[in-house]
Amino acid sequence: MNADYNSFQWMKLNNQRKVLELLHYEAAISRVEIARRTQLTKQTVTNLVNECLEKQWVEEVHTQPMTGSGRPPVLLRLRREKLLAIGIEVTGRYIAGVLMNYDAVLLHQEKLEHNGPTANDILLGKIERIIARLLAHVPDSLRLLGIGFGVQGLVDSDTGTVQHSPYVGLFAFHMAQWAQARYGLPVRVDNNVRAFANGEIWLRNDRSLQDTLCIYLDEAVGGALLLEGRMYTGANSQAGEIGHMKIQDRGNGCRCGQYGCLEAHISIEAITKALSRSTFEEVQSLLAEANRDAVSILVKAGSWLGTALGNTANLLNPSKIIIGGQLTEAARWFMPACEDTFARTVIPSSHTNMELSDYTRNNCSIGAGTLVFQHWMSYPN
Ligand SMILES: [Zn+2]
Repeated sequence: MNADYNSFQWMKLNNQRKVLELLHYEAAISRVEIARRTQLTKQTVTNLVNECLEKQWVEEVHTQPMTGSGRPPVLLRLRREKLLAIGIEVTGRYIAGVLMNYDAVLLHQEKLEHNGPTANDILLGKIERIIARLLAHVPDSLRLLGIGFGVQGLVDSDTGTVQHSPYVGLFAFHMAQWAQARYGLPVRVDNNVRAFANGEIWLRNDRSLQDTLCIYLDEAVGGALLLEGRMYTGANSQAGEIGHMKIQDRGNGCRCGQYGCLEAHISIEAITKALSRSTFEEVQSLLAEANRDAVSILVKAGSWLGTALGNTANLLNPSKIIIGGQLTEAARWFMPACEDTFARTVIPSSHTNMELSDYTRNNCSIGAGTLVFQHWMSYPN
């Protein structure tokens, strides 16, 4: 990307990023306030805003005059409802896709089930089918900014390569290149849990979220770390694998080959298996009847989770822990125990608080969509 820009273009790009970032965080803001907060000259701001208006990324909002004052201020706002992204989650069990706007309002969604790793052409064929259906729902008047993928497995987000995903059967596959060649749109690719974390943080619109731990409780258990404002991926893109933290000596066997991992005890798969049921919906029916075994397993899961999160919080000192994934549909059964052991594990002065995600479903595909918006803000076009 660097080679495409000369120094003047870089400066302009950086200035444009500053303006768009303010518009991302503020509901509406005046040109004067943009100039003050970005420390750009009024003329530079006028030029940049004019370009944004021309491209229909922003619009002017005419406010009511204040009593006794002169001209009412004209504010600017990002046309969030006009900017669209496609987000796709690819896991070993399903491919889910959403067409969403900048505020994560879903215009359309699609899902195809599948079972474990398949041949590349079959998997890519299914992804193409989902994208085709989503593309068919893009209104002419709205602007599709790109496609984001969240793939279960080891993903190098810088190059958009799925390095190792035995779940879906992709190895050293340059997904970004493949999708860009097919659709001619900007493409972002990341691990599905990091995509979820990106969405959680992006959609909260909160600059104070600089150190955040996101936990994803679903068929598997994953985590992602935002440290000092950046998604931390580790030396080999594997940071955040909290699902393989050991919580029981000689505990249940885990798919990683070890025993006693958090995931082997508290994932949807582990809980469903422990209750001899075949789907999470069946587990939810048991919980709805307050079935003793089901409640007891969920309480135990919450207790283990609290210990794992408390230990992690002691190591990293995040300001917030966000918990998402479909298992949070049963949060009322496991969160009290989780909060209890968390409080007994974490250093009392750490001030880390826990919150549930707003989305129990689709949150990895929504997160994948936010990868597109985030990239667009860095390289608007
Ligand atoms: Zn494991």
